[in-house]
Amino acid sequence: MRTETPAETLPQGRVSKIIQVHPSLKCNLFCKHCYSSSAPQYKEGLSVKSILRILEEGAGMGYNVVSLSGGEPFLYRPLEELVQASKALGYFNSITTNGMLLRSASAQRVFRHVNLVAISIDGREQQHDEMRSMPGAYQKMMEGVDIVKAHVPNFGFIHTVQPDSWQLFPWLAGLAVDKGAALLHLHPLELAGRASTSFGNMIFGEEALLKTYITHYYLKTYYEPQLFIQLDLLHRDHIRDNPAFCFHADALSACDLGDFSCLFRELIIDEHGDLLPIAHGCSKRFRIGNIEEDLPLVEMFNRFAQQRLGELMQVYQQTYDEILNNTEHEIFNWAELVLKNTFRYEQELACAG
Ligand code: SF4
Repeated sequence: MRTETPAETLPQGRVSKIIQVHPSLKCNLFCKHCYSSSAPQYKEGLSVKSILRILEEGAGMGYNVVSLSGGEPFLYRPLEELVQASKALGYFNSITTNGMLLRSASAQRVFRHVNLVAISIDGREQQHDEMRSMPGAYQKMMEGVDIVKAHVPNFGFIHTVQPDSWQLFPWLAGLAVDKGAALLHLHPLELAGRASTSFGNMIFGEEALLKTYITHYYLKTYYEPQLFIQLDLLHRDHIRDNPAFCFHADALSACDLGDFSCLFRELIIDEHGDLLPIAHGCSKRFRIGNIEEDLPLVEMFNRFAQQRLGELMQVYQQTYDEILNNTEHEIFNWAELVLKNTFRYEQELACAG
């Protein structure tokens, strides 16, 4: 499950700079669309001490949001210790969950340190249960919504978008408003992990992309500010007009200033403890470091700046040019395209070598 904050800025007016943590792939479910192939058989997760070392150093560098995902975060044993320490470091804590394991006393203790909970939903009851491969998952998730409402200041829903999901958006937005949610996050299905097996032939054609974009835009206009609606797709004009968004500010001056949280507004710690730019699942050629490495975070960034930043900028440029030269499509998933291009870049290097 991808995790996000509900807005570009935090309630305090600070721009969000996110450390996204996947502490374990253990999950009580085995969903068909899971891009991380999470499942019940996974056992141990990352060392909480090592995660906290990175969070502590990250806080000093300007990171201010911790976004926990997985797997199912409520199955990560040291979750309470993690969110408590993270909150003490000043982070805005956000958790993405399937909402089914929230009854326990330990879950309720976790809520004390959490600012936002995003609960994943796949549609109406039958559709949700089918995707989750679990009868009763929808009902259990809805019980979780009521528990979260009673304990956490903000909550929202996150939906994995398929080509025909736009027809469901009005129902989803209405449900979110009825339940008192602050956020509806719409994230296009990624053909990675188990999703690539379950949905290998699925294609977002231009018509589906446009319908998705327009429906979300209409609902946004209708429901905001009561309900913040975020779709992880961008129009080509937006990409063209915002190169600073695509290239993560002026990379070289950010490096010169040591402003790495500006350069990597989203830093990912994956289930192996690897620190990655862009998104979960990008090529390990672009690994910034590992949480178990005996090296300060700033040194990992400096090493990356010397060895890989130039290459990453080429990947950004290639993606940007590809989008601007694409005459077939208007709507794009920027992060997914960059992610794919990290692998393409690696392959091209291997062929050239
Ligand atoms: S999609 Fe989420 S709830 Fe489903 S298996 Fe993956 S991590 Fe678990």
